[in-house]
Amino acid sequence: MLSAASRPYIAASVPVLREHGVAISRCFYQRLFAAHPELKNIFNMPNQESGKQQQALASAIFAYAANIDDPAALAPVISRIVQKHVSLGIRAEHYPIVGKHLLAAIAEILGAAATPALIAAWAEAYGLLADALIEEERKLYRALGVEPGEYRAVTIVRKQKESETVSSFYLQASDGAALPPFQPGQYISIAVNVAELALRQLRQYSLSDAPGSGHWRISVKREEGSPAGLVSNLLHDQYQEGDVLLVSPPCGDFVLAPGDLDTPLVLISAGVGVTPMMSMLHGSLLESPQRPVNFLYATLDGQHHPLKRELRSLMLQHGQMQSYVAYERPAANDCVPQDYQQQGFLSLATVPDSLLPQNAAYFLCGPAPFMRAQRNALLARGVPPQRIRQEVFGPSLLEHLQ
Ligand code: FAD
Repeated sequence: MLSAASRPYIAASVPVLREHGVAISRCFYQRLFAAHPELKNIFNMPNQESGKQQQALASAIFAYAANIDDPAALAPVISRIVQKHVSLGIRAEHYPIVGKHLLAAIAEILGAAATPALIAAWAEAYGLLADALIEEERKLYRALGVEPGEYRAVTIVRKQKESETVSSFYLQASDGAALPPFQPGQYISIAVNVAELALRQLRQYSLSDAPGSGHWRISVKREEGSPAGLVSNLLHDQYQEGDVLLVSPPCGDFVLAPGDLDTPLVLISAGVGVTPMMSMLHGSLLESPQRPVNFLYATLDGQHHPLKRELRSLMLQHGQMQSYVAYERPAANDCVPQDYQQQGFLSLATVPDSLLPQNAAYFLCGPAPFMRAQRNALLARGVPPQRIRQEVFGPSLLEHLQ
């Protein structure tokens, strides 16, 4: 627990961090990578270039300071960070390095305002957080039976185009052993050498198939932005059946809780955010065949609708499952109601009430504005916030505190 002496300094830092958080984060990463260039292999370097990582770290430090006296608010964030860190292979010895450069960055950006007492308070606060993370990460590594940073070789046994931009990769252990079990909604990190950066880069991909199917499947969207996404394009263009990938164990806490077993499930996703939802759908149908599952999905059109046939076939087999699809700009051959039910962005206001029961467990995954809109719509319908869970396909880990 933070000492009484440090508490006022951390509380007083909240407005300062709001103002200078991104500058502190930028300075921190510059210092960190100058002293430890090998750590560039762990961080997402395009997110550094675009500033997303600095923004994410600034928000994290700010949220930590603002909630330091509220362990209940911090607990879900810590859980999510621990899962991500374990998938990235973060080690206990990384923490003092990060702490040293973070404190130096705070001192550099705040100048005279960074009094010895303020720096001492932040050293204490960082130390508490680091200790908590190290301990939780140690437990998770042990539970998973891996050493930090230990990756498993898997072979691509099948590559399947799912839509204009998404392809699935079916993976099996290269040594022929059985792959460890996973919980629907979890992801793996993939380690890929990126020649143009002369670095190894790690990216997370949700497992998109049923648990217990004898393989893992990831479904990857080609990021076509400018500049084009590094790893997704490498996977699409250069990785074929028979090639080997290095992957982390399955991680992530965006999973069904034991208390969800008897409640209806509502899975709401957009774009490639469909991946953890497909796994949850399979998992629910296998584990609790009687549980109602409502699958709401938004995408551009039928050409950009990954795993569409799989969804249809599940619908035909399982009477307790309902689906509802919105196409933003349907193509001429996309038909109502066979292919989609709503035109434009998915609006829960026009979705039949039967698809959105009050007592359901709600799972959201998609672009940030999509999740914000759906979450707000659910809250407006009276769904309690604790029944809504989200997965973010980016560096932000703070949706629990927003
Ligand atoms: P990057 O090279 O990391 O680039 C990312 C974006 O930043 C691109 O749009 C690029 O145009 C932009 N960018 C790059 N450099 C700059 C710059 N200098 N300025 C401005 N913008 C820039 N993805 C899936 O496809 N399927 C999944 O199932 C999936 N699951 C995920 C689960 C989790 C928990 C998380 C965190 C992410 C998941 N993702 C998934 C996303 C995935 O991890 C990658 O982020 C995604 O594939 C893009 O990686 P990339 O290397 O291709 O792009």
